[in-house]
Amino acid sequence: MTDTPAQAECIFCKIVAGQIPCFKLHEDDDTLAFMDINPVNEGHALIIPKAHFEDVYAVSDAAIAATAATAARVARAARAVLAPEGLNLLQCNGPAAAQSVQHFHMHVIPRRIDDGLAMNWAIVPGDMDAIAKTADRLRAEIEKGR
Ligand code: 5GP
Ligand code: ZN
Repeated sequence: MTDTPAQAECIFCKIVAGQIPCFKLHEDDDTLAFMDINPVNEGHALIIPKAHFEDVYAVSDAAIAATAATAARVARAARAVLAPEGLNLLQCNGPAAAQSVQHFHMHVIPRRIDDGLAMNWAIVPGDMDAIAKTADRLRAEIEKGR
């Protein structure tokens, strides 16, 4: 099937297609989990449906269900590997919610007490070596199963 113009330009569709690299955590038929390269905290990960949906208003019931299931799996791995003091699942839609990539996604954000994290954060590139090391630890835990 031919991509729509929005899909052809979509950075997450390019990650799904392997045209842009990512620190992959998990992949199944319907979803992909990978590290955010501008992490707000250690272990910040993104979960997407492989199919392109712009936002929560467009996503199919099956795609949001599959994405949520993968997000829960990544969250459990983050708890086991990083022992955070809390964890947010976050999903943003539209400019006031600071959606910057127009392909439906869920953030898994491990939290620390007093990490000072505000909801609309600045995009700051992370340390790629540190992200890769955390990704290795999370991936190993995810593949262990539940
Ligand atoms: P949003 O602001 O739309 O809720 O979140 C989009 C997220 O995608 C941001 O946290 C941003 O850091 C992340 N992001 C943007 N471009 C890339 C990329 O090329 N690779 C990865 N791994 N994450 C990206
Ligand atoms: Zn897309």
